Amino acid sequence: MGAYLALDDPDASADTGAALAAVDEDPAPRVAPGASGVHPQTGAGRCVIESLAAESLAWVCAVGWPLAMVAAAALNMALSRTFSSTELIFAAAAGAAAGGALYVGLGPDPGPAARGVMSLAHGVPLALGSTAGLLDAPAAGLAAVLALLRVAATALAGWLDRRALARGPRWAGVGWGLPLAALRATMSPVTSTVGLALFGAAWLRSLSGRGRVGRVGSVLVAEWNPDARCGSAVSLGSTVHGWAARAPLPHELYHARQYLYLGDSLVPLWLIGCGWGLASAKATGRRPCRRLAIGADRCAEVGNPLEVAAYRL
Ligand SMILES: [Zn+2]
Repeated sequence: MGAYLALDDPDASADTGAALAAVDEDPAPRVAPGASGVHPQTGAGRCVIESLAAESLAWVCAVGWPLAMVAAAALNMALSRTFSSTELIFAAAAGAAAGGALYVGLGPDPGPAARGVMSLAHGVPLALGSTAGLLDAPAAGLAAVLALLRVAATALAGWLDRRALARGPRWAGVGWGLPLAALRATMSPVTSTVGLALFGAAWLRSLSGRGRVGRVGSVLVAEWNPDARCGSAVSLGSTVHGWAARAPLPHELYHARQYLYLGDSLVPLWLIGCGWGLASAKATGRRPCRRLAIGADRCAEVGNPLEVAAYRL
């Protein structure tokens, strides 16, 4: 972004205009052609720099991001001792979409719509990168750092979740779970905000003896009706909500880590996965049903791609 921001900077434009005016009046240019690598009259050097920067950004977004998402999904599976090839395909497609959003958002003259899409896809991590001064770095560098951040977050959370699952959930209090969950929430701000708001409601409800709240490592867990016989649960960002019966924690923590690399796009991807699940059922001679849309077959790559590996836990 560095090269593009320099062009957008009004101060920089004013300086450039002043320099060019000086060149018009003074037959001896004051800016040495080799001083900045940019020829003051033809701008050929600037064109080369912009071309190289755009090419690097394109490579990082088109190749680096899909690879990073596949790596994060593979890490999540390896740390959970499960596997799904269709989820890896989904992760690559999600990486291509996220990389595309970055490419148009960080490219020259992105426009408000492209900026909006990029902010929606990368929101808080992008803001964190900005505050760290990374917006002054080349756009390709920023895009690479954002991808590595998601892979590193997935790996760290996977390791912490394994330790926390071995210890079991802590129902006595939330403690460090709250700030840690807030940190995880930066990767999926919209979904996590909804999850944290619901967790607050569950906590208030638990004060009257209905349901219970606690944490597993850095994920907040609310069980609304733990004594119910038929279970249903959902992961919302850095929170897990067991609506009925005990929440299947290994399964839901797997989804909570998916939010770390897929971000809020997990929700639309999961809905697309419902259609994929029905199509995969039909393609393999099974009866398309609700179970294979919102869930998966434990013994085959059939069902929602974001559920196949989780159902094997
Ligand atoms: Zn699930």
